[in-house]
Amino acid sequence: MKAGSDNVDSLLQDASKAATMILEYAERGERIWVESHLDADGISAASIIGKALCRLEANFRIRIERWFDEKIVDELASEKPGLIIFTDMGSGYLDILDAKLSKRDLVILDHHQPAREKVPESFVQVNPHLQGIDGSRDLSGAGTAYLVAKKLDESNIDLAHLAVIGALGDIQDKYEQRSLGGVNKLVVDDAVGSGHLQVETDLLFFGRETRPIHKALAYTTDPYIPGISGNQDKALALITSLDIKIKEEEKWRALRDLSQDEKKRLFSALAEILASGGLDSDVTMKLIGTVYTLKLEEPWTLMKDAREFSLLLNATGRMGRPSLGIAVCVGDRGKMLEKANTSLEEYRRNIMTYLNWLGDNPERIEELDNIYVLHGENSIDEKMISAISTILSTNMPKREKPVIGYSVVPDEGVIKISARANEFLIRKGLDLGEIMSKAAEKTMGKGGGHDIAAGGQVPYEKKKEFIRLADNLVRDSLRKKKLGS
Ligand code: C5P
Ligand code: C5P
Ligand code: ZN
Repeated sequence: MKAGSDNVDSLLQDASKAATMILEYAERGERIWVESHLDADGISAASIIGKALCRLEANFRIRIERWFDEKIVDELASEKPGLIIFTDMGSGYLDILDAKLSKRDLVILDHHQPAREKVPESFVQVNPHLQGIDGSRDLSGAGTAYLVAKKLDESNIDLAHLAVIGALGDIQDKYEQRSLGGVNKLVVDDAVGSGHLQVETDLLFFGRETRPIHKALAYTTDPYIPGISGNQDKALALITSLDIKIKEEEKWRALRDLSQDEKKRLFSALAEILASGGLDSDVTMKLIGTVYTLKLEEPWTLMKDAREFSLLLNATGRMGRPSLGIAVCVGDRGKMLEKANTSLEEYRRNIMTYLNWLGDNPERIEELDNIYVLHGENSIDEKMISAISTILSTNMPKREKPVIGYSVVPDEGVIKISARANEFLIRKGLDLGEIMSKAAEKTMGKGGGHDIAAGGQVPYEKKKEFIRLADNLVRDSLRKKKLGS
């Protein structure tokens, strides 16, 4: 169902209920515990709620978790009186929350599929799925948190751009020309209205704010530009041949520095290369997309382009330093930003190392009847399996098969699983969130997530069984859909 105005009104009513509960605790000065998820969306969500609570002078603490865990719930239940707020997590695990926290006031601001309809009276859940709005595309965890922050105080409209960063971090730019749609569009409008965000259609190379043009071009792999992708020298030669200056007063120019005319020349040249490689105009149009620029940030920084900003946040989380990400979100541009930048370098290095390693060890990617399995085992850090699975899923030869990657979590006897599908499989009715949840439940683990991206943790000795179950569940899901359609 689309985000119609009735649905949005009802979602906003839920946001008001959550705001009322939060305000009561803030006014009484009672402790508020915020628990959020480790990725860019979770960090943005926590930052939005944190900033809003700060403005209320509330008594609160934020904790960032790598995944939803019974241990977190046990600790909250036994040791932490006060209001609990979950952001970007919680809805998938309502059974556990009900069993252990049903007597507590609890606010869930999430966009994962709710595990069930009924919740205890003391819970307030704000989640687009409850209104039939698609939580994988139309609103992120940060967006849900933002709706509540705005109900807490209209002046929190100046946090809307953080929710845009969260949505882009969760790869929700699935509308025309890679734009955000659904309820996310309302958030984008607020961010524009508050003077923080500018939205344009432009050439879309990653690093448009921070990388020299030839590097941004060479790093572009979607679309793959024959001869240019992965080859900085050729990219440089192309740019020079188009009479585009690569430096301005000794400083590299980035895509942002090019004039309209220069961009047109570049686009035409790239279109020609793609066409001569036999690629159709759909592929060429991928060169152009919606760019979200943060107007108040300095040029040539990672915070200027909202997509780059989200990568920075992801890096701080995945490198185990999410508090740096929160600090940057709430405005730190000093030491914390410097450290966040270091995390990003480390994160990028890690990704390159693992991709090279996979190039040398192709047998680690196994093709089963219905899925690809990436055996990360002890070789891929458990915190990186999410990013590596995402990258692999866009580069596998058969779009009919989702990627299921896993790594061993040291000292815990479990594997961390990251499953990734694509738009083609979603249109065929595949729901990885459901599959992860079912397969994990049968193997003494936990799992869940969105249709397109989901995950889980299961005991190591159940690994084979889990993979077999996932393979069968994908088969059944696609077959059922075929019969039904
Ligand atoms: O918990 P949460 O909803 O924030 O996480 C969604 C995760 O799924 C993100 O890490 C995001 O990068 C990933 N994702 C993906 N491919 C998509 C959509 C989301 O890898 N098409
Ligand atoms: O960790 P990863 O990025 O692979 O997670 C993909 C999605 O699955 C995220 O939205 C995450 O919140 C969700 N997930 C979940 N339960 C788990 C593990 C992941 O809901 N046990
Ligand atoms: Zn999210």
